[in-house]
Amino acid sequence: MFDQHFLVDESYLNRIVAAAELRSGDVVLEIGAGVGNLTKKLAQKAKRVIAIERDPILINVLHDHFDDIKNIDIVEGDALKVDFPEFDKVVSNLPYSISSEITFKLLHHNFKLGILMYQYEFAARMVSTPNCKDYSRLTVNTYYFSDASILMKVPKEAFQPVPEVYSAVVKIVPRPTPFRVRDEAFFMEFVAAVFSQRRKKIRNAILNTNYILKIPSIRELIAQLPKNLMDKRAENLTPEQLAEIANLIVDLRSKSS
Ligand code: SAM
Repeated sequence: MFDQHFLVDESYLNRIVAAAELRSGDVVLEIGAGVGNLTKKLAQKAKRVIAIERDPILINVLHDHFDDIKNIDIVEGDALKVDFPEFDKVVSNLPYSISSEITFKLLHHNFKLGILMYQYEFAARMVSTPNCKDYSRLTVNTYYFSDASILMKVPKEAFQPVPEVYSAVVKIVPRPTPFRVRDEAFFMEFVAAVFSQRRKKIRNAILNTNYILKIPSIRELIAQLPKNLMDKRAENLTPEQLAEIANLIVDLRSKSS
């Protein structure tokens, strides 16, 4: 329960802290502090660490360890529900079962740098490129909000208890979006819909998912979209091209209403 695999290998803990390039003024958010292995090292370099942990047993452990340390704030709760305070950096060995939701929650906040541990396959999907098997909705959404790269692969043996999967540490640098979207909510829905049919030509993927997208007069509208894009599959389109199609749909939809 709660994805409890604690990072115990000192060298990986140190490499994660080094990657965060902590300054004495940095406020760091940690999601899923566990028994505090990472928390303690972060607090030695940062101004303050806000450590969120859901498990009441571990919360007691964290209080036992850290109540005398003034720059660690322990927050009990589900990181998906807790309102995040302002923070400069987020450094965490995440609970993998909430990787997607927690990443998108984070990306809607203002921060400078994220150093985050994920299951390796998830990390590979975050940083993929068009025409690759890992290129996905997650890739496009991650790229929309940030520059992301894999810093290191982490072996199972670095954790206790040893998990079944490999892990990877991802560096996330939020930045202004590299392309314009007219309607962000529609763009997100559009990307989700067309990647649910990733091997279909975009024309058919849009038709097949219009029960979700709810675009009026869909066939007439598709006929007005550029043929060179409509003949491709979602997995072969760059994020910019996907945004171009989503923007054209938004424009055509508003003209016809
Ligand atoms: N940071 C510690 C480490 O590296 O050793 C623990 C990492 S462990 C992979 C994930 C931690 O997240 C566990 O301590 C677990 O109890 C906690 N956790 C799981 N789901 C959570 C949630 N929704 N909100 C906050 N913490 C959660």
